[in-house]
Amino acid sequence: MRTTMTNTRTLKRAERLDRLPPYLFVELARAKSALEADGVDLVDLGIGDPDLPTFPEIVEALQAACADPATHRYPAQRGDASLRRAIAGWIRRRHGVDLDPEREVLVLIGTKEGLGHLPTAVLDPGRVALVPDPGYPVYQASSWLAGGEVVHLPLDSERGFRPDLEAVPRRAMEAAQLLFLNYPNNPTGAAADPEFFQLAANLAREHGFLVANDAAYAEIVYEGTGASFLGADGAKDVGIEFHSLSKTFNMTGWRVGYVIGNADAIDALATVKDNVDSCVFTAIQRAAEAALALPEARIAAQVEVYRRRRDALVDGLRKTGWRVPRPRASFYVWARVPTGEDSQAFAARVLTEAHVVTTPGVGFGPAGEGHVRMALTASEERIAEAVDRIRRIL
Ligand SMILES: *Cc1c(COP(=O)(O)O)cnc(C)c1O
Repeated sequence: MRTTMTNTRTLKRAERLDRLPPYLFVELARAKSALEADGVDLVDLGIGDPDLPTFPEIVEALQAACADPATHRYPAQRGDASLRRAIAGWIRRRHGVDLDPEREVLVLIGTKEGLGHLPTAVLDPGRVALVPDPGYPVYQASSWLAGGEVVHLPLDSERGFRPDLEAVPRRAMEAAQLLFLNYPNNPTGAAADPEFFQLAANLAREHGFLVANDAAYAEIVYEGTGASFLGADGAKDVGIEFHSLSKTFNMTGWRVGYVIGNADAIDALATVKDNVDSCVFTAIQRAAEAALALPEARIAAQVEVYRRRRDALVDGLRKTGWRVPRPRASFYVWARVPTGEDSQAFAARVLTEAHVVTTPGVGFGPAGEGHVRMALTASEERIAEAVDRIRRIL
């Protein structure tokens, strides 16, 4: 008798999966689990996932919404009209950009989902996506999965972690259909820069590519303003921007975000999504609406929490002699490895000898080598403990 079991062993995976890089942190993840299994107390500055709980008003809004049977049916395909209006109001208040909630706002199952589907909607096989390096790995993975080519744009501290767009080879510029940006930036902590956004918008118009700015950290900014790409002149003609409730309201597990901007690009992405998903649970969308209605002072207060943590980590590590830059935005500290080790060796030693979890920079791309990322997702007290432990092994 033939069984399907014997067949699964010889399953041939689609060749497109071969383009994805191997998971770099297998060893590190194994070492972390082994230490945890031994009951070792680790300070985890690894993954960028807020340790603080979702604001209670949002939890209450979900509780009320899911008791209403009207939320139990399929959601509106492109997002609840009332949430889309709330998003337009929020962006108007926070970033001074006017949006048509019908055509210029699309609700996503988290930003990652939208970034993951975008190249399928706007990037043809063989054409180029320009991707920052170091960068959030989804940009290149989704471009490869769509059959596109990736050209990396190195970010270095001398240029404020902004890519040199004028140095991109002419052929790559001509083949480009998509430019990913990510300001405020993960992993470098660089803030948005209105002049750079304007340059990107101008080049996009000249060369005919779409700009997609990932603004997941738009509300975690310590200095300055102008966090939205859509604030640049003509930006809405050439670009879209991804926003998330995950980091702003400590809702990473809830899976809700949105994309705003150019109506044609948004319609293209929505067309992909019309065919693969059915949007976000309506009760979660109502809770998201409650989040966007919270007093803005609540967000400012949370930024102050991250600011104190940032200063505790930066000032503490500087006292050990490690020259750590102070980030202007996001909840990451991005620093050059202070020893001669490569980033994986250094992170492994910090883990096994100091019991502090960090992320080796090479995981964000080749230009991340020689750096390490530390997330401010632990209390000030635990950060002080991490500094103390790291001091002893440097
Ligand atoms: C956390 C993060 C995201 C993911 O956001 P979700 O809305 O939770 O999917 C996207 N981009 C960057 C740069 C992030 O760090």
